[in-house]
Parts: sequence; C-alpha cells; structure tokens
Amino acid sequence: MCIFCKIVKREIPSNIILENEDFLAFHDINPKAPVHILVIPKVHVESFHEVSGEIMSGITPFIQKVAKELSLDKNGYRVITNIGEDGGQEVKHLHFHVLGGAKLAWSHLSDAHPKEMI
Ligand code: AMP
Ligand code: ZN
Repeated sequence: MCIFCKIVKREIPSNIILENEDFLAFHDINPKAPVHILVIPKVHVESFHEVSGEIMSGITPFIQKVAKELSLDKNGYRVITNIGEDGGQEVKHLHFHVLGGAKLAWSHLSDAHPKEMI
C-alpha cells in the first residue's frame, strides 16, 4: 500500500485540515511555502495522467474550499501536480500541492526555503 493510502487509512499520522467522503487535505511534511497543503483523492490513482474527469470535477471545489479555509483566496495561491519521472513525482498517488501565504517565486518549489519568502 502506498504512503498516501496509509494516511487515508490512518495507518501513519498526518496533519489533516479538511476531509470529506472522497478527498483529504493535509499539511505537507516538508513545506516549500508558508502554507503547503496536499490534496488527494482517497481512492488510489497513480497520477493526474490516470485520473478520471469525475474525480477531477469533485476535487476542484474541494481544493477551492481548502484555499478558502486557509484564507488563501484573497491574495491567491498555486496548485501544482507533478506527473511521473520528468515531472518530479515522488509519491505515486495523485496529489495536488496547494501553496500560498507569500508571493511565490516561479522556481520556489525546487529550491527556496519557506521562511525566506515571507
Ligand atoms: P511529489 O514530489 O510531487 O511527489 O510530492 C510529494 C510530497 O509529499 C512532498 O512535498 C513531500 O514533502 C510530501 N510527503 C511525503 N511524505 C509525506 C507524509 N508522510 N506526510 C505529508 N507529506 C508527505
Ligand atoms: Zn495510494
């Protein structure tokens, strides 16, 4: 079972901020921005390339709700999903990075420290 499926099943701990029947949002363990949340479907889907339109139509308002709950909607935020080897995907369970809380540099996901961005 993959690490994010284990998080869904509460077999490993995570800092959950929002959940419904189909989706889960929790803090990234290694934040790359002042706010760095991961949003996942509870069902195992390997990446964006395999995801159904049905899951996407559900996860979109869920991500919007996460952003609103964290007050990211006023100043804006970024949503990223990495796909496969060249996309830099390390965890092979579809996840959307939701980043915000500061004006984000374009390259920040690979090299910046969140505290330097505030
Ligand atoms: P990616 O490189 O797009 O696959 O992103 C994987 C993300 O998962 C990274 O930002 C990691 O910091 C994060 N991550 C890995 N393990 C955990 C965990 N147990 N809890 C929270 N975030 C995690
Ligand atoms: Zn999984």
